[in-house]
Amino acid sequence: MIAPAAIARMIADETARFTAANPRSAALAKDAARHWHRGVPFHWMLDWGTPFPLFAARAEGSRLWDADGHVYDDFCLGDTGSMFGHSPVPVSRAIARQGAQGLTFMLPTEDAVAVGDLLAERFGLPFWQITSTASEANRAVIRWCRGITGRDKIIVFNGCYHGAVDDVFVDLRDGVPELRRSLVGQVYDMREHTRVIEFNDLSALEAALAPGNVACVLTEPALTNVGMVLPDPGYLEALRDLTRRHGTLLVFDETHTISTRPGGWTGTHGPLPDLFVLGKPVAGGVPCAVYGFSAEVAERMERVRAANESGHSGIGTTLSANALALAAMRAALAEVMTPEAYAHMLPLADRLAETLRATIAAHGLDWHVTHVGARGEFICAGTPPRNGTEARAAMQGDLERAIHLYLINRGVLIAPFHNMTLVCPATTEDQVARLGNVLGECLSSLME
Ligand code: PMP
Repeated sequence: MIAPAAIARMIADETARFTAANPRSAALAKDAARHWHRGVPFHWMLDWGTPFPLFAARAEGSRLWDADGHVYDDFCLGDTGSMFGHSPVPVSRAIARQGAQGLTFMLPTEDAVAVGDLLAERFGLPFWQITSTASEANRAVIRWCRGITGRDKIIVFNGCYHGAVDDVFVDLRDGVPELRRSLVGQVYDMREHTRVIEFNDLSALEAALAPGNVACVLTEPALTNVGMVLPDPGYLEALRDLTRRHGTLLVFDETHTISTRPGGWTGTHGPLPDLFVLGKPVAGGVPCAVYGFSAEVAERMERVRAANESGHSGIGTTLSANALALAAMRAALAEVMTPEAYAHMLPLADRLAETLRATIAAHGLDWHVTHVGARGEFICAGTPPRNGTEARAAMQGDLERAIHLYLINRGVLIAPFHNMTLVCPATTEDQVARLGNVLGECLSSLME
């Protein structure tokens, strides 16, 4: 429906428009290139489809200002790190308070007691540990699962993403497992210890579990990093039953699906996993992640630890659970990620999805919109994908890039890697309406 020539024209026009509108970002990009490799302190900052990086000046709530003074309605929200809004007041206060009292001691503070109680109460698992990132939490969890089961294999789903975690960088192409093609410096073959199967395929799951050598299944309850793939009704319950039957631990990574409700997907729909991972927004944007586990897992961990004479585990980094992260997480859990916040976010996310659907339909397109609570996603294809292969097939790189750039040039940010939108407690109905209008103008322009 949308001609490749129209997409190419939009990318060219919008690239020129961005360049003309952002002289300060252009100058900063030039200066930054003196010493930052490829001009940015972290290479993902180049992934927004802009001709040079957009430099941020500040952000507050659901808005972000750039170095040239433009203001954006921010539906990307740091790709989830700020999904409860930029600099929520309780978190900023906690950071300021702790900032004057020491940042990192490798000792617990009183906040640890409160945070432990908050995590256990909210997510239903009794024991917890902290890391600095969700990637690190997933690496720790995989190591623990292998350690306590004495099994070497893990299962992940095609199209999954759990952070910079070597073990899960395996894809299925035409049903054949292969190493993720984009990996740099990969020297060992993860397929030796990782089985990759399609989401929503119970017979593949049974076959992969059958040899009895699988330590854990690691998954998001709904895949959110390959577009969005929802579980079929009953699928997660079957996954829970099958893993239990095969002595395999079930790990839910709820780093993104915390968008569902205050207790995440698990606390809303169940089932309860053996281990649970949550990163990104859990300390309001301060680097921090947590993993929780059942009493049985804790007991098995203790047995492994007791048998380990050295005390070293290969798990953990120095800055984890420092005083700053604990203070920020306490404020985020107790005062920001509240039922009241979700009471604003969830209906507005419904509205956002309806707005996108109406805008898309008004242009005669059959694109699909789906959402898990406050996290929405549209795909430029008609049928909702049931697995990673279908989700990948729905991706339209150039078209999506053109749309992203058009939106940025009109003051709207959505997540750069796909078409993800987040609604935070500060997002307004006007911002949602404007997103719909700007997307509508974009589609009209593409279809002229
Ligand atoms: N788990 C999931 C589900 C994620 O989407 C991501 C990042 N997108 C991570 C883990 C890793 O988070 P981080 O990059 O903060 O380590």
